[in-house]
Amino acid sequence: MMRVGLGFDVHRLVEGRELWLAGVKIEHDKGLLGHSDADVAIHALCDALLGAASLRDIGYHFPDTDPRYKGIDSRKLLRQVALLIGQKGYRLANCDITICCEQPKINPHVPAMIEQLAQCMQCRAEQVSLKATTTERLGFTGRGEGIAAYAVALIETESEATS
Ligand code: MG
Repeated sequence: MMRVGLGFDVHRLVEGRELWLAGVKIEHDKGLLGHSDADVAIHALCDALLGAASLRDIGYHFPDTDPRYKGIDSRKLLRQVALLIGQKGYRLANCDITICCEQPKINPHVPAMIEQLAQCMQCRAEQVSLKATTTERLGFTGRGEGIAAYAVALIETESEATS
């Protein structure tokens, strides 16, 4: 069986925070605000994976009221989500992420991001796609007030797996 899931997340950009996107630290004058490291791309991906497996959402599994997750590296959350998917008998077929942000430029970091995500999910790099777009200076992403990310993930039962 194959199942698809969708994820969406937004975090506010503020001064005095590190910027972590898709498991990569990027030098920038602002970072994303959140209970965890606020890695918006990983959060969207986690929600896509959980949604595909009908396993609720990231806030259900890792509540932002829980001190265990304060400042946590979101790669740990993604590893945990990949385990949950596996426990339910699924594995990733492929996923595709779009980051919406005006600044900084994402493109130079894409290969490192894909490597990080593939490592967390124990999959091949070609199963992971990540891209970025500006929103033409429109809306909160365009004004640099925050970064948004969308993700879709296709998961399959082991018997369906082709590789
Ligand atoms: Mg989030």
